[in-house]
Amino acid sequence: MYLAGLLATLLLSTLAWEVRAAEEPVLAPLQLDYHLLLTHPNLHLVTVEITAGKVAGDFLDFTMPAWSPGRYAIYDFAKNVQEFVATGAQGQSLPWTNLDKQTWRVDLHQAGGIVKARYRVFANDLNGTFSQFDSTHANLNGSSIFMYVAGHKPDPVTLTVDAPQGWQLISGFSDSTSERTFHAPNYDRLVDTPLEAGAATKLAQFQEQGKTIRVAVHSYGDDNTDLSKLREGLQKIVHTEMAMMPAADFEHYTFILHFAPDISMGDGMEHLNSTQIIIRGSLSGSLAEALETAAHEFFHLWNAKRLRPAALGPFDYTREVYTPSLWLVEGVTTYVSYLSLLRSGLWTREQFLSRLAEEIRTLEEEPGRTLMSAESSSFHAWFYDRSPQMQETNFANSTISYYNKGALLGMLLDLEIQSRTQGAKSLLDVLSLLYHKFYEAPQETYYGPGRGYEEKEILEAVNEVAGGDFTAFFDSYVRGTAPLPYNNDLRAAGLSLQISVPGNSPPSIGITPLLDDRGVRIFAVQPGGAADRAGLGRDDLLLAVDDQSLATEDLDKRLRAYPPGASVPFTVESQGREEIINLTLDPPVASSYTIQDLSGLTSRQTTIRNHWLRGKY
Ligand SMILES: [Zn+2]
Ligand SMILES: [Zn+2]
Repeated sequence: MYLAGLLATLLLSTLAWEVRAAEEPVLAPLQLDYHLLLTHPNLHLVTVEITAGKVAGDFLDFTMPAWSPGRYAIYDFAKNVQEFVATGAQGQSLPWTNLDKQTWRVDLHQAGGIVKARYRVFANDLNGTFSQFDSTHANLNGSSIFMYVAGHKPDPVTLTVDAPQGWQLISGFSDSTSERTFHAPNYDRLVDTPLEAGAATKLAQFQEQGKTIRVAVHSYGDDNTDLSKLREGLQKIVHTEMAMMPAADFEHYTFILHFAPDISMGDGMEHLNSTQIIIRGSLSGSLAEALETAAHEFFHLWNAKRLRPAALGPFDYTREVYTPSLWLVEGVTTYVSYLSLLRSGLWTREQFLSRLAEEIRTLEEEPGRTLMSAESSSFHAWFYDRSPQMQETNFANSTISYYNKGALLGMLLDLEIQSRTQGAKSLLDVLSLLYHKFYEAPQETYYGPGRGYEEKEILEAVNEVAGGDFTAFFDSYVRGTAPLPYNNDLRAAGLSLQISVPGNSPPSIGITPLLDDRGVRIFAVQPGGAADRAGLGRDDLLLAVDDQSLATEDLDKRLRAYPPGASVPFTVESQGREEIINLTLDPPVASSYTIQDLSGLTSRQTTIRNHWLRGKY
C-alpha cells in the first residue's frame, strides 16, 4: 500500500516539479538583538533571548525552523524548546499561545514597543544540523537554536554570546576568538554561520589568493593534536578548487572540524563561508576521510551556497522545500571533489578511477535504479536524507541516492562535453557559466546576490558550453532511468569499465542480509532473484541450508558448496512458522568493477584523458 502510494507520488512529481517561492511580506524592520547564554552545560541547555524593538500591531510570532538548510529532513527543532516566556518594555509578562507546534504568538497589547522572548534549547547532538553544549564546548547550528520573528527574516540582527571564561569562539562571523558580538544582515545569514566555542579548540590558518582560510579543530582524546598535515592537505584542496572556479565573494573561510571516536556517525555541512565537519575517529587515524569531506564541503562554497536552485535561498523554514536539482548540488559536488583530490595530488590516478568504479557498482547494485530518476531522488530527499523514519519502508528496493547517481552524471557529462569539444571545454566550464549567470545576476531577494536556477537552466548551460544539444542525455539519464552509458563515455578518454565475478564468489540468492543470532535475517529481497522466485520476503529468517545451521556458519561459506542452478533446501522461519523452501541458486554476482586503460589510443583520446585527469586550470 505504501509502496503504491510512493510510486504514484513519483510518477506525478515527474510531470510537474513544484517549486514554492519563499516570499516574505514587506514589513517595517524591527530592531532584533539575539543573546545566547551558555551557562548550563551539565543539563545541555542553552538559553536564547530575542529582543525585538519597534514592535507594533496586535501580536508577534516567534517561529522555530522545522529543518536546517543542507539537510533535507523535517526535524522539528521546536521539540527541544522549553520554558518559553515573553516580557514587555518594563519586564512585565506578556501572554502568548502556541499557534502550531513551532510558532509562539505573543500578545503585544501591553508590550510598550519592546518584546523579549526567552527560551531554552536542549542541545546534546554533535552533527551538522543539531547542536551540542557540554562542559567541553558549544557547537551550535543556528536553525536548531534560533527562532525567527515571522515576517522579519530579512531584518538585520545582532548576536551577543555569553560563553564561559577561557573559551575561544570561532565562526564565519568572528575575526578573533575573543569577539562576542556579531552582526548578520538577516536571519538566514545568522543560521548559516555555525559557531564553535570551547577551551580545547586548536587553530591554524593559511592564505590563498588573498583570502584567509582558518582551521579550527576540536579533537576528543587526542591531546597532542598536530594540525600541520591537515593544514597542508586543506591548502592543496583550497588551492585546486579556487583555481577551478570563478573568484568568490568571501574574505575568510573557516573549517570547523571535530574528531570524535565515540560518535555513531560522522557528518559534513556546507555554509556560506564555513563548514562543519565531524569525523568518527581521530585526527591521525582519519586524516584522509577528513580531507575527502573537506574537498566536498569546500566546493559547496560555489555549488550550493552561491550557485543554488531557486528553492534553496531564501528558505521557507516551516516546511519542506522541493528541488529536482540535488543531483547537481550534491552529486556533482561529490564528483568535482574527486577531481580536486586527484588534481591536488592527495589521490593517485588509481584511487580516483577506483572510486568512480565503486560509485558505478553502487548504482548498478541498486534495484531502485530502474524506478527512480536522479531528479526524482532529489525531489524526494525529504524521505531519506537522515530523516527520522520510525516506519518500515521499501527504500532498499525503490530508491537511489542523488549523491551517487549525481556523481556519475557529473562524470558522464564531463567526459561527454570534453569529447564533443575535443577537450576544449569541461563540466567545470558549465559550473562556472552557471555561477556567472545566476549568482552574479541582479539580486532578486533580501537573501543575497543573484537568483536561484531552475532545473531546465542546467541543460541550457550544458548546451551553451558544449555547443550541442544534450536534451536526449537529460531525458534519458537525469529525468529518466535508462542505463548509464559508462563505456561509451569512458572510451572517449581511452578507458573502459570492466565488470567481473571475483574469484571464490558464492552463488547468489538475491537478498540483502542482516545478521541475527539464529541465522540470516532478510532485510530486502531483490526482485527476480532466487529468494524472490521462491516466495521469500523481508524479515524472513534463514535458519539452515540443507540442515546445516546458519547460526554457526556464514551464509556465503555454505553457499560455496553448491554450483549455480542447484536446487537447495533452506529452513526458513516466516510469519512465525518454520518450513523448508527450495531455492534455485543464481550465478555469482559480478561485483568487481574496475576502470582500465584501453591500448592503442588515438591522439584525441590521449588529449581528452590528459585534460580530464590533469585539468587545464
Ligand atoms: Zn567542539
Ligand atoms: Zn554536500
